[in-house]
Amino acid sequence: MFGKGKTCHFAAVPERYLAECNLVVLGVMGSGKSALTVKFLTKRFISEYDPNLEDIYSSEEMIDQQPVMVKVMDTADQDGPVNCERYLSWASGFMVVYSIDNVQSFKGCQRYLEALALHRKALHLDVPVLLLGNKVDMERHRQVSKSEGASLAARFGAQFYEVSACLDFLSVQRVFHDAVREVRRE
Ligand code: GDP
Ligand code: MG
Repeated sequence: MFGKGKTCHFAAVPERYLAECNLVVLGVMGSGKSALTVKFLTKRFISEYDPNLEDIYSSEEMIDQQPVMVKVMDTADQDGPVNCERYLSWASGFMVVYSIDNVQSFKGCQRYLEALALHRKALHLDVPVLLLGNKVDMERHRQVSKSEGASLAARFGAQFYEVSACLDFLSVQRVFHDAVREVRRE
């Protein structure tokens, strides 16, 4: 089939296929989006983070023995869900954050869940949503019960977690890794 001296060229197969997963972190100002993002990326709790800074960060992760480039967009809306176009088509998954010690942040996160539900048709895929009740270390000042969080999540078909950006790293990492697992399931 092949003439003498000729070599057969096969398309190069990458040794290691690195998938990408784009996670968007949403919620009202002060709910702890940046603290959670920074904790996931650096294992550290940074208590004061520029509240107006919106950026995308990348981290190569190994999740269930599969490498993935996780990109996290830490959003910084001033006033609820506006200009959502910047992330709607980019996102593979959403994490909507509120603070368990602030009922206003819980109301605010409902606006995000509603906006996402409204835009669902515009999204090419059924993009998973996780609802995160942050600051569980502030239990003494809790204003939103765990069951309120869970039922809101259920209403929007979202996975629900309670976390804290200033407690252990592994539980924060688990939330981000579970978000990737949800994306992989789609
Ligand atoms: P963002 O506006 O949603 O990005 O919120 P930040 O990440 O900037 O956090 C707002 C404030 O809440 C800061 O003062 C943080 O130190 C604080 N904070 C964030 N996460 C936690 C947490 O899990 N527990 C506590 N106690 N404070 C937190
Ligand atoms: Mg922030």
